[in-house]
Amino acid sequence: MNIIETIDQMNNEKYSYQQEGKSVGFVPTMGYLHEGHLKLIEESNKNNDITVVSIFVNPKQFNQQSDLDGYPRDITRDQELLKQYDVDYIFYPDSKEMYPTSLTIDLSLSSRGNVLCGKTRPGHFEGVLLVLSKLFHIVSPTHAYFGLKDAQQVAVVKALVEDLNFNIQIIPVPTVREKDGLAKSSRNVNLEPLEREEASHLIKALYVGRKCLIEHGLKRNEIIRSVNDYLNKHVTGQIDYVDCLSYPTLSNEITENHAIIIAVAVKYKKARLIDNFILNSNGDFIYKERN
Ligand code: AMP
Repeated sequence: MNIIETIDQMNNEKYSYQQEGKSVGFVPTMGYLHEGHLKLIEESNKNNDITVVSIFVNPKQFNQQSDLDGYPRDITRDQELLKQYDVDYIFYPDSKEMYPTSLTIDLSLSSRGNVLCGKTRPGHFEGVLLVLSKLFHIVSPTHAYFGLKDAQQVAVVKALVEDLNFNIQIIPVPTVREKDGLAKSSRNVNLEPLEREEASHLIKALYVGRKCLIEHGLKRNEIIRSVNDYLNKHVTGQIDYVDCLSYPTLSNEITENHAIIIAVAVKYKKARLIDNFILNSNGDFIYKERN
């Protein structure tokens, strides 16, 4: 396993793996790794000759300094964990390496970005687009793996590679959960004990929305109301959003022929939690979740 801290070094390695015609799986992360990240790495290992994992807490995608400062980090632990997996390269640049000068180019979204997390975290997806465009050029993977816990990110990244012709296959990976259904997240360590107990209600709220869909059909407002009512009764955290949209287009016009996403976000003192289900109009899961 090679740990690479500079773009120059990564370019050298890239040159050799490209010469050899290898398939390259890429797993971009912000570190503090857990089983969710490791599932993406397993998928990449299974389907590619080599796997590159990046660890970079991207300042451009944080719209609050306190959130960036409080983001958990432990590179030593991450490295130890990755040694046990078949990871070929860890790309671990610092901010100066990724953003040596102020930028002239700004990327923005004309759709998919003004709802869900894009609405409540202005600038977040622009930061994601920026760092991924850079990382995709630096690593030049054939495949890139993204978790469906961040389903809006998957939708945005799919648009990025299609619109800007990145020759990369985007592979969505189902959400990995704790025993009580809470989606695994690096941010979960920032939950207080009572908040952690409550957090299992996010997935239960999504099941309430799914039940509403199955029993009453594609009635967007009713689905949203049922999920909201459940969360209002069961969590003390601030409900950031509850929505039901088409997927991956993220429009509020939902139809029988398209997948839908039911998505929630709840803000606690030091952690904001998100979760979602992606379903067809009968309420069947489109991506099978595994624990
Ligand atoms: P992050 O380090 O939070 O930026 O996440 C890096 C990648 O891991 C993203 O593609 C996330 O969607 C994915 N990921 C994070 N948590 C999970 C999870 N619980 N299940 C599956 N993928 C996840």
